[in-house]
Amino acid sequence: MDEPLLETKVVEAHEDAVRLAADLILSGELVAFPTETVYGLGGDATNPSSAAKIYSVKGRPVDNPLIVHVGSLEEACGVGVMTDLAEMLCMAFWPGPLTVVVPAREVIPREVRGGLDTVAVRCPSHPVALALISASGVPIAAPSANRSGRPSPTDASAVMEDLGGLIPLILDGGPCRVGLESTVVDATSDVPVILRHGGVTAQELRDVAGEVLTVGGEELKRRSPGTRHRHYAPSVPVFLWAGGPVDIGSLGGGMVGYVGLEEPPCGVSHAVRARDVREYARELFRSFREMERMGVSAILAQVPPKGDPMGDALFDRLFRASGGRTAG
Ligand code: AMP
Ligand code: MG
Repeated sequence: MDEPLLETKVVEAHEDAVRLAADLILSGELVAFPTETVYGLGGDATNPSSAAKIYSVKGRPVDNPLIVHVGSLEEACGVGVMTDLAEMLCMAFWPGPLTVVVPAREVIPREVRGGLDTVAVRCPSHPVALALISASGVPIAAPSANRSGRPSPTDASAVMEDLGGLIPLILDGGPCRVGLESTVVDATSDVPVILRHGGVTAQELRDVAGEVLTVGGEELKRRSPGTRHRHYAPSVPVFLWAGGPVDIGSLGGGMVGYVGLEEPPCGVSHAVRARDVREYARELFRSFREMERMGVSAILAQVPPKGDPMGDALFDRLFRASGGRTAG
């Protein structure tokens, strides 16, 4: 990517800043903004050149489609064909961390959809995200505001770290409440199919829809292009820890950082301990970046206990950040 360097302003997300952000989006520029899941890199979802910019700034493979953010179910109907299932799920979980995949309408260019006939739509609950969508008057295409493959940003400083010099504006709305991305559900037929675990749990979906399917392996790669690529990884290796003793020497030598619920199993240089799985999820990406900045040479991360509703989403991010590498 050879974009010229811009001056990136980080501005508290008050009303004037949101108006400025909306004007930038309408003129084809990109703006980072907070959502309840992670920070998004937003552009006009009806403008193919905004989509091209998003892929270029992120260094994102062009076959990985973007989630389109809207302010309501009515607005979603203008972006995609909301099936009965999609409507039922959105009425239950919007605004919130649920993305539905539905047949796309023409107004959303193919660039945004990664060439697919479907579109992923979400109505976020963060007041700044909603204010930005409303002030822009267009649906906003927004992947996470990190360079492709890196941990998602959960505060404005993490966005600056990855995209400083590449975008004109970051709206600062403080740290994100959920800290992991939305749940992506294929809602094109009668039964929801989870394509990515996230902020809405499988159990919550089951409570509303009855049956819920999950797919994995090659089938998932075919149906959810984003899962084909490496994701969420800090610049140092992550080792999964599922209990038992760990020989710190087996982690490659140097300073080791730890993130998890229990006491670290060996003497680490820095430990982030969460009180429960939701807090672990909220802290995961932030702690990866913090430890990276501290100069650790490896990160040990505890596998969440089975049975916690948020455990699926957390395990998915940990597994992909580590590439499945285990310690102990
Ligand atoms: P991100 O923007 O990085 O949070 O990732 C977006 C996720 O949504 C990726 O896992 C994509 O594969 C998935 N996604 C977006 N659009 C579609 C679609 N039309 N069909 C299936 N998955 C999609
Ligand atoms: Mg992402």
